[in-house]
Amino acid sequence: MKLVIDTHTHTIASGHAFSTIQEMAAAAAAKGLRMIATTDHGPAMEGAPIAMFFSALLMLPDVISGVRVLRGVEANITDYDGGLDLPPRILRLLDFVIAGFHEVVLPPSNDMAKNTDALIKVIANPYVDAISHPGNPGYPIDIPAVTRAAGEHGKLLEINNNSAVVRIGSEENCRRIAAACRDLEIPVVCGSDAHTSFNVGSFTHSINILKGVNFPEKLVLNTSVRKMAKFLEDKRKRGL
Ligand SMILES: [Zn+2]
Ligand SMILES: [Zn+2]
Repeated sequence: MKLVIDTHTHTIASGHAFSTIQEMAAAAAAKGLRMIATTDHGPAMEGAPIAMFFSALLMLPDVISGVRVLRGVEANITDYDGGLDLPPRILRLLDFVIAGFHEVVLPPSNDMAKNTDALIKVIANPYVDAISHPGNPGYPIDIPAVTRAAGEHGKLLEINNNSAVVRIGSEENCRRIAAACRDLEIPVVCGSDAHTSFNVGSFTHSINILKGVNFPEKLVLNTSVRKMAKFLEDKRKRGL
């Protein structure tokens, strides 16, 4: 399975990452990627850019080093009511919005019903395209319920490559999420979550998880620019 799009990457602007957008795009080109989404952390995380950074992404060219660069964010879920740390007036300017739980922004909860309810509210947010690292064991969720919600709203659940390294215990959850998406024929998206240019396009763990559950390649959004273009086109048709 060859993935040509990385939908989850950070630049030096995140405050705890190391490469510029030029370095990320050049590394992506060198690895044969066709498209990346630049998804720096939302402003609620310490060291992350201010809200205006995300509207300023419009100043970037569409293509850098031959790689299409989607303007994006990894928004922080700020409360258990589905709140995010960027307002709709900024989210609507972006090509690809991912959102996720982060321990440093929202203290983890073992309350599965509460976590599931929050994530379903985020999935229902019309500006959100994908949930980052939903397999994070710090926020246990009702996987079948979240997967059904993603399917109903046409949203993506991420199989995060970096989770295998930084969120120990994610792997079994990721496998269950992948299996649930496979059974309901819902697409998934793989993100490297690279915080350095060396890791852009790194998908070894994500691919192992998908292979482990015989996940059909046609439901992996990252395998073709055409599939991603269709996803973004469907979003535009919804008026977003
Ligand atoms: Zn994250
Ligand atoms: Zn991230």
